[in-house]
Amino acid sequence: MIIVFKPGTPTDHDGLDRLLRRFQDDILHRAALPTPQGELLEWVLGESVDTEAVSALSHHPLVQTIINPHSDLQHIGRQASDANQSIEAGALSFSQNTFHPFLGLCAVDTVDHVDTVFGGLAAAGIHTARMGAYKPRTSPHTFQGLGAACLPSVFERAGHHGIQMVAMEVMSAQHILEIEHALALAGHPTQVMLQIGTRNCQNFELLKACGQTDQVVLLKRGFGNTLNEALLAAEYIAKSGNPRVIFCLRGIKSHTASPHRNLVDFSQIPVVKRLTHLPVCVDPSHAVGVAKPSIDGITDIAHAMAQGIVAGANMVLMDIHPDPEIAKVDGHQAFTMRHLPQLKADMEHCRETYLKRVAIWQD
Ligand code: PEP
Ligand code: MN
Repeated sequence: MIIVFKPGTPTDHDGLDRLLRRFQDDILHRAALPTPQGELLEWVLGESVDTEAVSALSHHPLVQTIINPHSDLQHIGRQASDANQSIEAGALSFSQNTFHPFLGLCAVDTVDHVDTVFGGLAAAGIHTARMGAYKPRTSPHTFQGLGAACLPSVFERAGHHGIQMVAMEVMSAQHILEIEHALALAGHPTQVMLQIGTRNCQNFELLKACGQTDQVVLLKRGFGNTLNEALLAAEYIAKSGNPRVIFCLRGIKSHTASPHRNLVDFSQIPVVKRLTHLPVCVDPSHAVGVAKPSIDGITDIAHAMAQGIVAGANMVLMDIHPDPEIAKVDGHQAFTMRHLPQLKADMEHCRETYLKRVAIWQD
């Protein structure tokens, strides 16, 4: 790996001294290249260096860039580009410094429910949502989602309520075309974030198809994937031409997770931020996946949501339903409309706590 310092960084700078003490056993070669702005220092590090520690230096005030010629994460890695890059989509902006809640129906069932959810979100001051039209179901005998048929009303209702973006899962390139077609027919009243679900994290053809669009893509970690495998899946999307990727942690499958649906993996938020420049989403609904009685009034899903946000999540994806008992999918993990003000207050509180934590830990 190569650390390139900002032009004009003086060799006797205190900060540089500290880095030198930390990495001196790893430095193979030091160079100073003259540039019009001053000398450009470069350190070439050996292969045994802690690559995560070096990647994390892309935020260091003296560092201009980190180059990792052997990185598998050439497009999404911190070394690949400006570490603070953001994804702009209409009036929305996503980066490792922003926060957005995406709440809504796991599966669209009726237009009334879509309308109630969008209306409730808008009334609460939330203008981003989730809606599932295409549902990957374990059993072929269960409800498979309304598919393309529901798109016109979902987009029309979103526009009516001023919902700026809807996260929606796709399972094939055909679904992407159907969404783009329906958006165009409706006159683009909203935007769609293409969601790749946990089961399709390594569906390489789908990753490439999403990589050939310019939509924002939400990639969920496969429930059985190592973090590296899932990050390489994100790299597929970026390498195919679309760098507008958000990475989602949604729990991993393990029998030890019981009584929860999955084992929460939100402790890896800082790892994703250290290794990549991607915004990080958490999905506490699918991670915890069960409604259990709560001792302190806060459900397990809300606790997991808080854990994700105070650890720096940039987006939260959660299931809500006006009447969970009749929801066709995942009603057992859905909050209701009456919880919206509490969810919003809790999310805001946790986000403020995260920002305060960042301030506490600055040297
Ligand atoms: C979903 O978000 O509705 C979903 C199916 O999630 P996952 O892919 O994480 O199971
Ligand atoms: Mn679901």
